Amino acid sequence: MNDTNDTTNDDEKTARDALATMPKAELHLHIEGTLEPELAFELARRNDVPLPWGTLDELRAQYRFENLQSFLDLYYALMRTLRTADDFRDLMLAYLRRAAADGVMHAEIFFDPQVHAFTDHVAYDDVLDGLREGLRIGEKRYGVTGALILSLVRDMDVATADRILDMAQARKDEIVGIGLDSAEVGYPPSMFVDQFARARSFGWHAVAHAGEEGPADYIRQALDLLHAERIDHGIHVLDDDELEARLIRDRIPLTCCPLSNLRLQVVGSIDDHPLPRMVRDGLVCTINSDDPAYFGGYAAANYAALAGAGMPPDTLAALAANSIEASFADDADKERMRARLADWRDAHGL
Ligand SMILES: [Zn+2]
Repeated sequence: MNDTNDTTNDDEKTARDALATMPKAELHLHIEGTLEPELAFELARRNDVPLPWGTLDELRAQYRFENLQSFLDLYYALMRTLRTADDFRDLMLAYLRRAAADGVMHAEIFFDPQVHAFTDHVAYDDVLDGLREGLRIGEKRYGVTGALILSLVRDMDVATADRILDMAQARKDEIVGIGLDSAEVGYPPSMFVDQFARARSFGWHAVAHAGEEGPADYIRQALDLLHAERIDHGIHVLDDDELEARLIRDRIPLTCCPLSNLRLQVVGSIDDHPLPRMVRDGLVCTINSDDPAYFGGYAAANYAALAGAGMPPDTLAALAANSIEASFADDADKERMRARLADWRDAHGL
């Protein structure tokens, strides 16, 4: 949690404490979006990167967003403080510590190497080395397993996506999937057909952000053109009955991020969030934190926000079960996670 969180009250804190013990997987998490102001300041000092804010409070005051773009402006500004493999290791370890405290057993984690390589001039291998070292240490230290999803940044020159895949190919076995993120409207999935085909040829899974601010048709393109196995966000599926019926029938998982939607004003209040309706309709939904350093809470806070909006505990546990089934973990890991969630449900009478 950071001090900018103005959505938390005592009831939510109590609910969050209980839900933090519920075993779950996190499937929609940008490692750069876990960069807390304190660590950003520390990295800026460590690497002699100038920041336009003199104090932590000045920086924290920037965390009010009108839309996706206003968030991305701060996100990319702070990303410049990440310079070395050690920085990426420390960022990963800071996330895994918080994830473990929130009951996360397994995390599939996006990273944006195009920005690091071509905007900030940090070598791809340094980024990957640091993140992988963080995952190795974090699994031992916190008991959280992790996998990396290389996310293409849809509003950068498409040629840089090709170049990052050139760099990634030699170490393709260290990545589990390809993703697509950043500014959505005006950058449809149809722009990335070749890049996704190539990534799938590496043996990678495919996921894509679609239907967050963009239209339902972007979800259809992600499925038909990119062969996405999961849709990140996807809440605009509710605008298209035929598409919604297809997602229900084919059990396509959606990685929903309630506090993100709230902070970026995709929804007006948590009570207005469409997730309860999506669950009632039969969509396979999961709960995730997206960019938790910016959006006021990690995994358990997102579950707690929905609990505060009236979602019953057995529904929240069912969404945690969805997160296990929708993960790319192997069968043995899924079985281990199912057993832990079943024990928790027994202990809580759910
Ligand atoms: Zn996201």
